[in-house]
Amino acid sequence: MTGSTHAAPVSPPRASAEVSYENLRHNYSVARAHGELMAVLKAGAYGHGLEAIACFLEQLPADQAPTFLGVASVIEARRLAKAGVSTRIYLLGPTCPFEREEIVYHRWTPSVSNLEEARDFDRLVQSHGGDPLPVHITVDTGMGRGGFLPEQLIEQISELDELPHLSIEGLGSHLPSADEDEDFTKAQFARYDALIEALGPDRFRYLHLSNSAGLLGYHSRYTNLYRPGLMCYGISPLPAHQSSLRPALTLKSRVSLVRSLPAGHGISYGRQTVLQKDTLVATVGIGYGDGYPRELSMTGASVLIRGKRCPLLGRVTMDQIMVDVSQIPDCTSGDEVELFGENILVSEIAQLAGGIPWSILTGITPRVTRVYL
Ligand SMILES: *Cc1c(COP(=O)(O)O)cnc(C)c1O
Repeated sequence: MTGSTHAAPVSPPRASAEVSYENLRHNYSVARAHGELMAVLKAGAYGHGLEAIACFLEQLPADQAPTFLGVASVIEARRLAKAGVSTRIYLLGPTCPFEREEIVYHRWTPSVSNLEEARDFDRLVQSHGGDPLPVHITVDTGMGRGGFLPEQLIEQISELDELPHLSIEGLGSHLPSADEDEDFTKAQFARYDALIEALGPDRFRYLHLSNSAGLLGYHSRYTNLYRPGLMCYGISPLPAHQSSLRPALTLKSRVSLVRSLPAGHGISYGRQTVLQKDTLVATVGIGYGDGYPRELSMTGASVLIRGKRCPLLGRVTMDQIMVDVSQIPDCTSGDEVELFGENILVSEIAQLAGGIPWSILTGITPRVTRVYL
C-alpha cells in the first residue's frame, strides 16, 4: 500500500535522445535526390531506433520512400518483419549457414560473397518452393570484408547465372576510404565502372557502391542505388557537406545539482581536475553508462546549458558528469543540457573522444529514452 489514492507518479527521463522526424525527412530528401535508396538501418538505425525509423520511412510518399532497408543481421531483419515493415529488407554482409533458411523463408534479400553461399541459397529456395529468390552479388573492390574478387566474378558469373532458384538482381560493392582517401576512392569508382562494363551493365537491375561519403563526394557512370547511413541521420562524413544536412538526434540530460565549490577542491574520480578558483559546478545526470563517452574526460569537451558552452570538469563517470557553470549564475537543478545534437555536432564529440560519429551514435545505450518529435 502506498497510503495514497493518487495514481503513481511517473517522472520524465533525465537523459533522452530526441529524434526529429522533420530533420530526418530533410536528410532523406537530400539523399533521395541522387537516386533510389537503400536506407541503412543497421545497429538500431545508428541508435535512432530501428522500428521507429523504419515505420517513419514506410509512410513517406512513394517517390521519397527507400527501395530497400539495409540491416546487418537476421536479428535486425526479424525485428523489422515483426514491426510489419513491407519495404524489402537487404542483408548487408555475408551470412552464416545457419541463418539462410530464415532468410529464404521471409524472402529477405541476401548479398552473396561466393559460389558456396549462392549454391546453398539456391538449394534452400528449391526445398522451400516458390519463385527464384532475388539476390545481390557483392564484389570486393577494396574493402576486404566480403564478396567475390573482380577477376573471380568474371570467371564465375555464368555459374551464378545457371543457379535456377536464384535471380541475380544486383551487384554491390563497398568503399573503405571515401571519407579519408580521395585518390584511392576515385580509382575504386573507376575500377567498379570498368567491372560493370566487362560484365554488361544491363544484366543487373541494381548497381550500388556508395555509402554516405560516396554519394556526397563521388560519381559513377552506372550506379543507380545508394546506401546512405550516416548522412540520413544528419551527419556528413565529409565536413564540406555538413551544411546541407540537419542532425536528427539530440542527446540531452538535466542538471541534478548546482553548488559553489572552493578553489582547491577536486572533481571526480582520480581528482584529475582540482579547481584553480571558486567555481559554480553543476552535476548532470548522464555518463558513460548512457553512451556519453568516458574518453571525453580531460579533453576540453563542453556541453550546452541555456545556450552557453560549459566545460566538462574531471572524468566522465558512469551516471553523472560535472560541468563548470560559473557563467550561468542562476543555473539550477532541472535545467536542460545538450550533450550533442543540433548545436554541438556529434562529429566534434567523436573527434575529442578519439572515436567516429558512427561509434558515438551507436553507443547510446538502451537506458536513454528515445523521444520522437
Ligand atoms: C554501414 C554501411 C553503409 C552505410 O555507411 P555510411 O557511411 O553510414 O553511409 C553502406 N553500405 C554498407 C555495406 C555498410 O555496411
